[in-house]
Amino acid sequence: MFKKIIRPFQNVLLERKLCVGCTYPLTKAKKLGNLSENRIMVECKCKRRYVYEKELAGFKRATFAEEQQLASDIAKGRTW
Ligand SMILES: [Zn+2]
Repeated sequence: MFKKIIRPFQNVLLERKLCVGCTYPLTKAKKLGNLSENRIMVECKCKRRYVYEKELAGFKRATFAEEQQLASDIAKGRTW
């Protein structure tokens, strides 16, 4: 029952561009790097990571694969 309540609430926070963990504005979150031209990974001050999708003009939680991709880009010395 708790899960049924929490999930839509997280979506509401994301629609408002707020962190689902601490409600910090994601527009002020630290930019980590680009996954592609239209997708930017950011990190909230609470260490949660999100991907900003330019096409959607909105945020979503970063997947494990996306975090790995960014980590490998950084390891290769790719700078943005
Ligand atoms: Zn946060």
